This record gives sequence, C-alpha cells and structure tokens, in this order.
Amino acid sequence: MCIIHYSTVKMRHPVILILVVLAAFTVFTSRARAEGTITVVYDDGRAGQGFSSWRLDPESEALYLRANDVALIFKATQFWNASSRKVILGIGRTRFTLTVDTRVVVVDSEPILLRNPIRYDAGFVMIPMEFVLEVAPPFTPSVLDWNPASQTLYVEKVGYNVESIVFSSTANRATATITLTEPLVHHVDSSTPGLIRLKIYGGRVDPAKFESREGRGLFNGVRAEQTERDAYVYFDIKRETARILVEREQDPPRVVVVLEKGELPEIPDPEFADRRQIQIIDRRAQERRDIRIETVVLDPGHGGKDDGKRGSSGLLEKNVNLAVALRTRDILERELGVRVVLTREDDRLLALTRRTEIANETGGDIFVSIHCNSWFSRGAGGFEAYFLSPARTERDREVARAENAADRFATPRNPGAEVSSDIDFILWDMVQNEYINESSHLAELIQKAMNDRLEIRNRGVKQANFSVLQGAQMPAILIEVAFLSNATEESLLTSDDFHRRVANGIVDAVRQFKERYEK
Ligand SMILES: [Zn+2]
Repeated sequence: MCIIHYSTVKMRHPVILILVVLAAFTVFTSRARAEGTITVVYDDGRAGQGFSSWRLDPESEALYLRANDVALIFKATQFWNASSRKVILGIGRTRFTLTVDTRVVVVDSEPILLRNPIRYDAGFVMIPMEFVLEVAPPFTPSVLDWNPASQTLYVEKVGYNVESIVFSSTANRATATITLTEPLVHHVDSSTPGLIRLKIYGGRVDPAKFESREGRGLFNGVRAEQTERDAYVYFDIKRETARILVEREQDPPRVVVVLEKGELPEIPDPEFADRRQIQIIDRRAQERRDIRIETVVLDPGHGGKDDGKRGSSGLLEKNVNLAVALRTRDILERELGVRVVLTREDDRLLALTRRTEIANETGGDIFVSIHCNSWFSRGAGGFEAYFLSPARTERDREVARAENAADRFATPRNPGAEVSSDIDFILWDMVQNEYINESSHLAELIQKAMNDRLEIRNRGVKQANFSVLQGAQMPAILIEVAFLSNATEESLLTSDDFHRRVANGIVDAVRQFKERYEK
C-alpha cells in the first residue's frame, strides 16, 4: 500500500507540477489582460462593428485585436496553420504571414519587424494594433484614422498618392513628371548604370498603372513597385544620358525627372570606361551643400528614475547608453576634432523634447540617440539603426502623437504640456522630413560600420516614429546597440572593449558622413 502510494505520487509529480505552473500562468495572464472594445466605422457602406481589444502586457500600452477581426476590417482572407502557429492574411494581392510569439510579419517575402509580438491568448491569435494602423494600410486602398480617445477606428477608402506619370521629350531632353496627391519626400539613386531608382517616402502607387516598356526620348521604360512604406519608380534610361536632374515641385506636388543628352568625354577615364559620366542634381541636397559637421550631439537614452530596459542579470540600459556615449565622445573629439555635446553626462532624467532642444540650442549638426534593445525571447539579438519615418498624413501624425505621448517619466516643462503642441509637432516633423535623405544615409553608414566591428547580428536600417528624433533640426538617428534580454549580448554590453567597438563604429560613420557632405 505504502509502496503503491509512493509510486503513484512519484509518477504524478511532474503532472501536478505542470498543472500548478499552468494555473499560475492562467492567473497571471487573466490578471495582466485588460479587455476593452474598439468601434470600427467604415465609409464603404458597411455597418460599423464593435471589436474586443486586449492589452496583454501590463508593462506596455500595446493594444491587440483578434486575427479574425483584423481580417474583417481589411476584408482579408485568413488561413491559420496550427502546427507552425502562423496566420496568413491575404489583402488584395499581398500576403501577410504573422507567426505567434514573434515580432515578424512577412509581407510577401519581405520581413517587417513589429514593436510588439503577435500573441496567442485564450484561444485567439492576437495581432498588435500597429499592424492594423501602420503595416497593412499601404497595401490597401484604405486609410485608417485612429482616435485613441474614443477608441474608434475609421476606415476610409482613398486612392494612391503617387498618382500618375507623364512623359515629354525634345531632341536633347526628356522629362517624366510624376503627379502626387500630397507633398512627399523622395530619394534618387543612380549608382547602377542605365537605371534611376526613385524612392518616394510614404508613397502608395499602383504598379500596373506605371509599367511601360515604351521608349520615350532618353527613357527606355518605367516600372513601379510598392513596399511596406514607400513607393519606388525605376527608370530604364539610354546610354546617351549625360545629366539627370530631379526636382520636387510644391504646388501641385510633383517630382520631375529630367534627362539631358550631353557630350561624353572623348577618352573616358579607364575607371569609368563602362559608365557614362552622370551628374546627379537633387535640388534639396544642393540647397544644403554648405553643410558642415562641427558639432555632434550624442543622446544617451533614459536616465534618472527611467532605467530603460533591464538585463536578466540586472544591467540597466541607462548606464550602458551613458558609458557608450562617453566613450564615443572621447574618440570623436580626439580623432575628428569635432565638438561633442552630450544631452546628459550623468544619471539624470530628461524629457524627450528636451533632448532635441539641447541639440538645436547647441547648434548640433548630427544627432545620435543611443539605446539598447530588449525582447521577451532570449534568442533575439543584434544591432539596428533607425531614422524617423516621415509622417505621411495628418492621420499618421495622430497615430505617432498617441504612441509617443507615453513619455511617461518626463516632467513637463510647462504644467499641462507633456506633449508638444500640434503646431510644434507638425513643424518639427517637417523639419525632420527635410533631413530624411541625410538621416537615412547616416543610419546606413552606422549600420555598415557596426557590421564590420560587432560580431552580432545586423538587423538593418529601419524607420520608425520615435519622438526623440522628431525635434532635431539636423540629420538624426537612433541606434539600438544590442539586446539586454540576450544573455550573451548582455555580457558584451558590460564590457569596455565592446563599448569601444561601438564607439569606433559611430566615429567611423561620422567620418564618412563628414567627408561626403563637406565636399
Ligand atoms: Zn531605450
């Protein structure tokens, strides 16, 4: 009897333990989960709907919707693969693959990283609201307007903002005029011979409308491509093109691409024997040709009672950020002879808006905000650099404003003014838009420099609406050095040698940036 009893207990022990763990987990999740309702209002004749919305994490304000409801909002097809824990949503011609417990959404074959993971809770696949508001809309003819105060989502049908293209040409000159429905910033790349790649930030284009193989003057053909946030227009151009001019017009908003024939050098420089001598003139870049990098502003994230993220062994992000910034200052001053301003030199709390104010007041030429990453999956790791997404419309500004309002530790400078006023917000936003080419270039240089120096994953250059970058009247980026949630990277983040490698990477990128823009 006694023996039987003993063996029963022994056998059941793991089962009981699992049950206890499950019970504890259930209590935890039900306590952590806050349920609410959002209202969805359509302008396409569909009746409004009420959907339940969950907050799954007590630490974050991230709002989640059920995958079924997300499918209804976008009239998407839905497929759930239980064994791989993937949901595939088909919206128009685009397939979005979302995997539970990851932050990754694969759009067709292109991965996009969300700020919050896709979750599985109480039998439902839960999708973070940022997917609904930011990731999906560019692939649909809809614009979403989210009102956080009333928890109402307005789904409006709109067309494309990269509307049409018209060609004209004379014997020596060919022009392509792209009409936009709102002012958008662009970037021109003609490093590949015979090809002009025009990136239109925040553009929504119908590729079918732009595709043409018909030659028009110096243009051989054109095609367009839509990515998650931006539109691309590719021009196939003739060899005789000697000069490319790309201009942005305001009223009406247009991008004009002008190709001109010209005299080719009689004996081409051997290095360029295979390329035409092409001179790219981007009007906006030209206006700022006198740019000088004399003052670099480094912004160690967090500080004071805002610890930032915390590693599993207790390492605090605010301290790592400061150590990296101090190290970078030394090397920048020594090697480049530039003036370096730190937004904080000790463990103190600073409002996000104050950080860029310091940068502006001290006449900064570059702003680099230094942070460390963290995620609940311990395997996640690597380095990433961000530059600010241009807020495309007033709706986007609304979303960004709501998200960034969580500057929760900051003490308002004026009572009742935690969040900058709408006017400030829009002006600052436009200011940062003006620097988007330089900011993206700086982010790319830093990413490359880190890739050469740090033996951690290269997570690439990303765009996001970070408040801390909004006010900077200069090229501004934010770097996430490594993951505190990853044990290997956390121990790297304590090492002086690793700080020095990061600092050297920043210095190297600033040097290249300086060389390029000071010409
Ligand atoms: Zn941070």
